[in-house]
Amino acid sequence: MSDAPVPQPGIMELTPYKAFAKPKRPGRLIRLMANEGALGPSPKAVEAYKAAAGEIHRYPESGSGTLVSALAKHHGLDPEKLVIGNGSDELIELICHCFAGPGDEVIYTQYGFVMYPTCAHASGATPVKVADDGFTASVDAILARVTPKTKIVFLANPNNPTGTYLARSEVERLWSFLPRSVVLVLDAAYAEYVERNDYTDGADLAEKAPNVIMLRTFSKMYGLAGLRLGWGYGAPAVVDVLNRVHGVFNVNAAAQAAGVAALEDVPFQDRSKTHNRIWVPRVQEKLRELGLEPLPTVANFMLVRVPAKTGKTPEQILAFCAERGIFMREMKTYGMTDCFRFSIGTEEENQALFETLTECLRA
Ligand SMILES: *Cc1c(COP(=O)(O)O)cnc(C)c1O
Repeated sequence: MSDAPVPQPGIMELTPYKAFAKPKRPGRLIRLMANEGALGPSPKAVEAYKAAAGEIHRYPESGSGTLVSALAKHHGLDPEKLVIGNGSDELIELICHCFAGPGDEVIYTQYGFVMYPTCAHASGATPVKVADDGFTASVDAILARVTPKTKIVFLANPNNPTGTYLARSEVERLWSFLPRSVVLVLDAAYAEYVERNDYTDGADLAEKAPNVIMLRTFSKMYGLAGLRLGWGYGAPAVVDVLNRVHGVFNVNAAAQAAGVAALEDVPFQDRSKTHNRIWVPRVQEKLRELGLEPLPTVANFMLVRVPAKTGKTPEQILAFCAERGIFMREMKTYGMTDCFRFSIGTEEENQALFETLTECLRA
């Protein structure tokens, strides 16, 4: 008999997150594998971050009150329904810990974000993977898997890594058929980039429904991934619970200050959206010229299918690019062996990507 500590069931099934492997050779470094904003952080946020340096001997504002007010004002939301997290990852984790445990089920979609099954496992709950319809989440398939054991449904909208989204009518239909005891998490990490009339980030539903929380992040368009800053908005039955359990000082002072400044920097937000609007179609066109099949996307990244006729596998393409300092994401974790994903970079980075892919595929 072993007397070593035994973790919750499911935890040993987890594959540890693969850290970014630093390139072996010095030289060009173009990181397109984590969907971070192409334009870096807002200069205003950097200023606020530096200004916070002289005060780092102080504990941060608990509850991130100044940031809560700034978010409420910027988005026209009720400050009472906000929760701030150390990245939205922290909130995903806390939602699992607070609402699901051994014997409970947590629904996520086939090509949904990997954090959902990871956090469900970490809470001892059973993650239930629901098949997508093509590369898009299927409301009917999700509803068909709801049982009395279901505690949480996670939906990334838009979804990472596919870049697809569900229209407002579909999200509302999903919610309308879910038992009110099930927490519906609408993870809108890429909402800032979406320019579709039929899209909702979920704030409207989170406002009125007793069981919905919308998650947002400063890690993508706002360019603050390194500071870890995310937030949630929704039903008191969910948000009040999270506000009780998160650490009193869960968000550091520099992140809070930079977040407030980033919200105020509307010109930076406009530049970021314009950059994405211009570059997504350009990049897609170039990839098609090379015989690749980029999927449609509403976000700042795209999934690319590599047809057999290119004579290359995604591994070969990614390795070729990595050797030349360009890093993209393989999709084996998601069971997509003929795809890779990358994010839109700066103009120079996108050009470098075209040149390198051309060299690779025409070789
Ligand atoms: C990047 C991403 C997040 C953001 O996580 P943070 O912890 O806020 O950096 C959340 N959900 C999805 C689907 C993402 O792709």
